[in-house]
Amino acid sequence: MNTGSSDIVIQGGGPVGLACAAWYLQKFPEAKITLLDRNPIDDADLANADSRGIALSHGSKILLDTIQAWPTDCADIHRVHVSQAGRFGRALMTREELNQDALGHIVRYRDIHLALRKALRAIQASSPNFIWQHIKGDDSEANITAQCIVHAEGGLFKTQEWVESGRDYGQSALVGLVEVENAVPHQAWERFTAEGPLAVLPSHYGHHILNLVWCGSPESSQDRLQLSDSEFLESLQDAFGSRIGRFLKIQDRRLYELGLNYRKQITKDNEVWIGNAAQTLHPVAGQGLNLGLRDAFLLAEKLAGVFANTPEGPSATEIQNALEDYAQSRKVDRTTTIGLTDFMARVFTSNLAPVVLARGLALSALQWLPPAKTALARQMMFGRR
Ligand SMILES: Cc1cc2nc3c(=O)[nH]c(=O)nc-3n(C[C@H](O)[C@H](O)[C@H](O)COP(=O)(O)OP(=O)(O)OC[C@H]3O[C@@H](n4cnc5c(N)ncnc54)[C@H](O)[C@@H]3O)c2cc1C
Repeated sequence: MNTGSSDIVIQGGGPVGLACAAWYLQKFPEAKITLLDRNPIDDADLANADSRGIALSHGSKILLDTIQAWPTDCADIHRVHVSQAGRFGRALMTREELNQDALGHIVRYRDIHLALRKALRAIQASSPNFIWQHIKGDDSEANITAQCIVHAEGGLFKTQEWVESGRDYGQSALVGLVEVENAVPHQAWERFTAEGPLAVLPSHYGHHILNLVWCGSPESSQDRLQLSDSEFLESLQDAFGSRIGRFLKIQDRRLYELGLNYRKQITKDNEVWIGNAAQTLHPVAGQGLNLGLRDAFLLAEKLAGVFANTPEGPSATEIQNALEDYAQSRKVDRTTTIGLTDFMARVFTSNLAPVVLARGLALSALQWLPPAKTALARQMMFGRR
C-alpha cells in the first residue's frame, strides 16, 4: 500500500471515516489525503448491506446537512414513550416540550453510508489531491506512511481486533422490521423488559412498519432468531404488550452482540482513533454513531487548522499538539456519553428488586421533573460540545 504522497491517511470508509474526509476536504480542498475503503466501489453492491435502523439525533442532522449528506429516506420521531414491562414507572418526551421539530430521526445504516459516499464524491470533484482507494482484506495493514493516520475501522462488539476497557453485558440485539396494527405516527417506544430494552421505532416505510431492536441474552436472542414468524410475533407481543395493537409481520431478522469497548487514549504520536474504532457502545441510548460523527467533525476542524495554515507542512510536534488538543476537546462529550450509555445498559438490564424500584422512580421523576427530562433529552440530541 503506497500512501507516500498523502499527508493524512484515513483508514476505514464507514460513516465516520467518510464524514471525516468530507468535512476535512470541505475546509481544505487542496489537502493531500488518502481514504482507504474496504467497501465495494459500486453503490449497487451495498444495496443489500446492513439495513438496521439507526437513531440519529437532531445534532447529527445539523452536522450532516453541512455536507449535504442527509439521507432522503428517514422517519422523524416526535414522541418517545419509555416504560417498564409489568412494573410501574413511565415517561413521555415530546418535541413540543423541547421546542424542536423532531426529537430524532431513524435512518437505515446503509442509507447513511450511501448518502455520505454521494456527498464525498461531490466534494471530491473539487479536491485535486484526494485519493479514494478501494482495497481488499488486509491490504491496508501494510506500509502506511503519512504524517497523520486516522483510524476509522469501526467494527462491532466482539469482532474488533482490539479490546481495551469496557464491559460485556451478556446481551445481543435482535433487529428487524415489524408491522403493527395500531401504530402511533412518529412515536418511538422504549420498553424495559426483564431481559433488557426493547425498542420499537418509526421507519420511512410508513406508520405501520416499525424498526425493532430487542435486547436479550445471547441464548434467548439466538432462539428468537430461529422461531417461525408466527411464534416470534407471539413472543414479541408477550414482551411488548398491546399498546400498539397486534404485531402482524416480521422481516429481516438479524443479531448483533452488544458490549462496551473503548480506548482510554484516543491519540498516540501521529495516530488518532475515531468512531467505533475509539468506542463501541450498547445501542440502548442510540448514541454510537452520533458520538462518532461529532468525533469526525471536530477532528476535521483541528486537522484543517494545522495543515491548511502551514503551507510548508506542519512539523511532527505541531501535528501531535493538534491531536492532543483534539483528544482534550472530546473528553467531556466522550466521557459523558460512554458513562451515560453504560449506566443505562446496566440499570435497564438488571432484575434486582432495588434496581427495578429505583428505575421506576427514576422514570416517574423524569416524567414529573421537566428540567431533568429536558437535560437528558438535550444530552441525547446534541451531546456535550
Ligand atoms: C444493533 C445496533 C444498533 C445501533 N443503533 C444505533 C443508533 O440508534 N444510533 C447510533 O448513533 N448508533 C447506533 N449504533 C452504533 C453505530 O452502528 C456505530 O456507532 C457506527 O456504525 C460506527 O460507525 P464507524 O464508521 O465508526 O464504524 P463502522 O460502521 O463499523 O464502519 C467502519 C468501516 O471501516 C471498514 N474497515 C474495517 N477495517 C478496515 C481496515 N483495516 N482498512 C480499511 N477499512 C476498514 C469496515 O469495512 C467498515 O466499512 C448501533 C449499533 C448496533 C450494533
